Amino acid sequence: MTSAYRLLPSVEQILSDERISALADEHSRQAITDIVRQRLTNARGDIAAGGDAPQAHEIIADVVARAEVMALPWPRHVINATGVVLHTNLGRAPLSDDAQNAMLRAAQGYSDLELDLDTGRRGSRQAHISNLVARVTGAEAALVVNNNASAVMLGLAAIASGKEVIVSRGEAVEIGGGFRVPDVLRQSGATLVEVGTTNRTYARDYEAAITEHTGALLAVHASNFRVTGFTHTPEIRDLVEIGARRGVPVLYDLGSGCLLDSAQFGMMHEPMPQESVNAGVGLSFFSGDKLLGGPQAGIIVGTKNLVDLVAQHPLARAMRIDKLSMAALGATIEHYIRGEALDKIPIWRMIAMPPDTVKQRVMNWANNVGPHASAAQSKSTIGGGSLPGETLSTWVLSIDCSSVESSAETVAKRLRDADSAVLGRIEDGRVLLDARTVLPEEEDALLATLQTALQA
Ligand SMILES: *Cc1c(COP(=O)(O)O)cnc(C)c1O
Repeated sequence: MTSAYRLLPSVEQILSDERISALADEHSRQAITDIVRQRLTNARGDIAAGGDAPQAHEIIADVVARAEVMALPWPRHVINATGVVLHTNLGRAPLSDDAQNAMLRAAQGYSDLELDLDTGRRGSRQAHISNLVARVTGAEAALVVNNNASAVMLGLAAIASGKEVIVSRGEAVEIGGGFRVPDVLRQSGATLVEVGTTNRTYARDYEAAITEHTGALLAVHASNFRVTGFTHTPEIRDLVEIGARRGVPVLYDLGSGCLLDSAQFGMMHEPMPQESVNAGVGLSFFSGDKLLGGPQAGIIVGTKNLVDLVAQHPLARAMRIDKLSMAALGATIEHYIRGEALDKIPIWRMIAMPPDTVKQRVMNWANNVGPHASAAQSKSTIGGGSLPGETLSTWVLSIDCSSVESSAETVAKRLRDADSAVLGRIEDGRVLLDARTVLPEEEDALLATLQTALQA
């Protein structure tokens, strides 16, 4: 046991190896020393667990491999073959070509972000984008911030700080990591007044709770969960009617900025910002990188009075959106204005792809891969806290890993470790790759990665 520890080389011995000292010169000596130390700590752990001491050349090979991974640019490109269209861990929506180009234009050199080229005077970074957002949603006014979480927080702080906000008990919920409606309300300086029950809340419940202290009625779309059975949620129009009668603004957190009707693809109808504006909601809030298919952003639309109040709040500056996201958001919204969203925005192309088209792509993959894989029917999901439980019929490449004497986990790991990393899913001991979420230009790289993973 102790002798196994004595067989371990020292940090200095490893560092003096030719390849390692070359790495230390190329990267940083400190970073390479840290990797060596970490590797030796792991080796001592293995010995403590009853294993053998690794040879010096094995340790050196591991350190070289680790340093190579460390030197790769981040974030790395990942081919999404999970069939989850808005995969939060993979950065939600991929951007359209126009949105990518707009970002590049904003990144290279200087731009007229806050300058009116016509007059040469200072302009507003919001003016252009608010116009586009207002045009596509029909709203009187719009404001864009960093993400939807900050949009909601800012809206509440500007409209209802120091006042009561009435929320249905069924909507005082947690929407994904760290966004809990009661906590956001408290942070904004408002007081939560819960009405109704978890499953059933009526418009009259809101009305009965209105007092002189009420600052707003808040509706929150159940974007990542579903309550089924004996349930009731009032129509947003009914809340608007009550709010108008009692002089209280209605705020609506839509979650996703779904500007196209999701029902045309056989899914539940996701509430749309246009409908919310049309119903007379005072302020509606939604994300830029969910079903809108653009960059991370939080969009606020509503009446001019209320949007002006929000824009003037000191927190607005703290939640400011950056120029790259703004450029990409503008280009994405232009697709809707030009009526080309289904053709140009990647997530809508994926959602709209007919099962037969997906099948054809998977059949081509299967022919390329050979006997280890076949086409199978499956389900894609939307993900990203949108349309929970809704699925799209799809086709997947189903890989029989036993035919290459591997486990599905091993093959999946090889796919993730490849230069062109591929993420699929595992079901019943098979690796499944859904063509719906793979961009056409990624197919060659996916097939090359797959060939290597199945030969290893
Ligand atoms: C996703 C979501 C948020 C948070 O939006 P981000 O853009 O991720 O900050 C807030 N509210 C609802 C209802 C959501 O679905």
